[in-house]
Amino acid sequence: MYANIIIDISYEKLDRPFQYIIPDEMLADVAPGVQVFIPFGQGNRLIKGYVIEVTDKAEYDVTRLKSINSIVTDSIQVESRLIKIAAWMRDNYGGTMNQAIKTVIPVKSEIRHKEDRYLRLIIEPEEQNRLLEYFKQKNMTARYRLLRTLIDNDGSIEAKLSKAANEVIRYFEQQNIIKVEKERIMRNPIKLSDIDNERKELNKTQRYIAESIERDYDNGIRETYLIHGVTGSGKTEVYMELIEHVIAKGREVIMLIPEISLTYQTVMRFYKRFGDNVSIINSRLSKGEKYDQFCRASSGEIKIMIGPRSALFTPFNNLGLIVIDEEHEGSYKSENSPKYHARETAIKIAQLSNASVILGSATPSVTSYYNALNGRYRLFRLNERAMNAIMPKVDIVDLREELKQGNKSVFSRRLQDLMRDRIEKKEQIMLFLNRRGYAGFVSCRSCGEAMKCPHCDITLTYHNEGKLVCHYCGYETPMPKLCPKCGSKYIATFGTGTQKIEDMVKKMFPYSRVVRMDADTTKHKNEHEKILSAYARGEADILVGTQMIVKGHDFPNVTLVGILAADLSLYSQDYVAGERTFDLLTQAAGRAGRGNKPGEVVIQTYSPDNYSIIAAAGNDYESFYNSEIMYRQLLEYPPVANMLAILVFSTEEDIAEHSADKIRECIGNVADDTEKIIGPSKASLYKANDYYRYMIYIKCKDYEKLVKIKNMVELYMNDNVNYFKKTGIQFDFNPIN
Ligand code: ADP
Ligand code: ZN
Ligand code: ZN
Repeated sequence: MYANIIIDISYEKLDRPFQYIIPDEMLADVAPGVQVFIPFGQGNRLIKGYVIEVTDKAEYDVTRLKSINSIVTDSIQVESRLIKIAAWMRDNYGGTMNQAIKTVIPVKSEIRHKEDRYLRLIIEPEEQNRLLEYFKQKNMTARYRLLRTLIDNDGSIEAKLSKAANEVIRYFEQQNIIKVEKERIMRNPIKLSDIDNERKELNKTQRYIAESIERDYDNGIRETYLIHGVTGSGKTEVYMELIEHVIAKGREVIMLIPEISLTYQTVMRFYKRFGDNVSIINSRLSKGEKYDQFCRASSGEIKIMIGPRSALFTPFNNLGLIVIDEEHEGSYKSENSPKYHARETAIKIAQLSNASVILGSATPSVTSYYNALNGRYRLFRLNERAMNAIMPKVDIVDLREELKQGNKSVFSRRLQDLMRDRIEKKEQIMLFLNRRGYAGFVSCRSCGEAMKCPHCDITLTYHNEGKLVCHYCGYETPMPKLCPKCGSKYIATFGTGTQKIEDMVKKMFPYSRVVRMDADTTKHKNEHEKILSAYARGEADILVGTQMIVKGHDFPNVTLVGILAADLSLYSQDYVAGERTFDLLTQAAGRAGRGNKPGEVVIQTYSPDNYSIIAAAGNDYESFYNSEIMYRQLLEYPPVANMLAILVFSTEEDIAEHSADKIRECIGNVADDTEKIIGPSKASLYKANDYYRYMIYIKCKDYEKLVKIKNMVELYMNDNVNYFKKTGIQFDFNPIN
């Protein structure tokens, strides 16, 4: 047996591991993550290295390979834990060891260019305005422009984007108007004096939960806990209490939050409570900046890392707790190989570090709830909103009935009435549409031809500026005047998008102020946050948007939420459609009445009898769960059974098909009757980015058996490299989208 070893645990070195022979007496102990002494270079100097992979394939001439000298036995290193995690991910989710290690190890910063500086405004708003006025009066255009840009960008910009001459920047720096910083400072946007250690007194239920978990913690019990608490029930306060407890014991904490909820509001809450102990990563940080934050974690400079999925791999030395907020979010599952789920991976990491895991959600994933009911997780509930705000009143409106009564508008009469009422009362309204773009797809009314993306098997979406856009690959083309197939001029758009809704609302209520938030209005950095904070300040009456408006925001003046077409997410084919619908509707409804005024919600739908919709309207998670789990049981879907989805793809259509058949054959040879094999069949998105795609699904109660099948398929493809040289494969365990 041979070990592939890297000497320096860094991203760049991964592509050049060195191979060593594993002496027989070490066979039992050498595994990924183990640190070993190896003879290196001409002088055979003994150096330390990490085993990343154990294999029976020699990649070089065996006679020239050296042997491992010995195993390093001192304390367990963070790096070795990360490599162990990578090996575990590779085994459990597929993909290569290289992909797995690259997922867990951050990239070192590139050499910083001079332009990579950030300018940060450090003067008070009154002073900003005074100076702005002054520069304007004195016609100091360059200074005026720089200050204006800084103010417009919440006080921080990249130097190279400022377009200001270096003299202007230097002047600002000398005058203490700005600070020039080498890295984008996410940390500590507040002055130390703002830190507000005055915490909320936990209510009875919150205290019970916090104390139970703390008691376990102090007794050395490490578990996975699920906190099922309605939106606004004070889960975050509980997390903060527990985080404080854990860091007081000298341990560190990773807190995962979906990227979309990583808002200024949330982040400030943590800064205010924990000050300089906190660091934050998000996808806007460059790889180098992220690396820097990870360094601060491994050096002990910070104790709490907040971030999306990838924050899980923060190299803390004494990790004590991992919190996953909104644990049901789809973004916790990686869309690249290895397609790991942050929840399971967190539990594995916690095991290796002797840490606890807390999952929290208002609408727990069916999987987590199932695990909690089966005793794998310990379940806690927070059934009431912390501030005694009452849950909103929800109406379901049957859109078929509306049409029968002659209402052809997308707004039901009930919703229109309530909107009028709120506008009069100067309260705010949110309208939620599970879709984006001006309108749906474009097709020919004469021949029925739908305009499709030439690279992907999906319809293009019409945008206001007269173009058709593929939301999958980004392909764009001008809207044709004539049907490309039959030449008819009757081509038109169908369906309704957020932009159209915005226009209709403006027409209906010409004096109301409407803003829209969807993928198109938030393409640029910070736009997301800008729209929401403007809305929070009351600068708009009505906010129209896609799912991104429903997450994690507190708008106390919103007293009406309209869900325009609750069904849209039900139409998708996959087994989580019901779960996703319930989740979206519950979250959307949860936006209403967060302040002291009671809220109302109108759910418009063509399927008023659907259990997800009824349960969401009643804010009844249990009843949703009971129906949903019955359905999963019946059809043997996760979490009742495990499922492995195998995607086989090629740029050549017949190769994709033949490869899929071959792989199916291979699976058939290893499977027994406890597994159910479905396919191969064309993927619902058959062609994407010029690849033809086939799916094979395997269902089985036993996860390990699915892992075995994956391993067999990998071996089989390796043994037939030539046959499969134009074929790609991707494994997805318990897929959720
Ligand atoms: P969740 O995370 O469950 O959505 P939060 O922790 O954000 O809930 O709490 C919702 C609101 O209630 C916040 O404004 C929070 O400050 C407040 N809150 C939570 N717990 C308490 C408490 N025990 N006393 C007073 N206010 C609280
Ligand atoms: Zn046509
Ligand atoms: Zn496309």
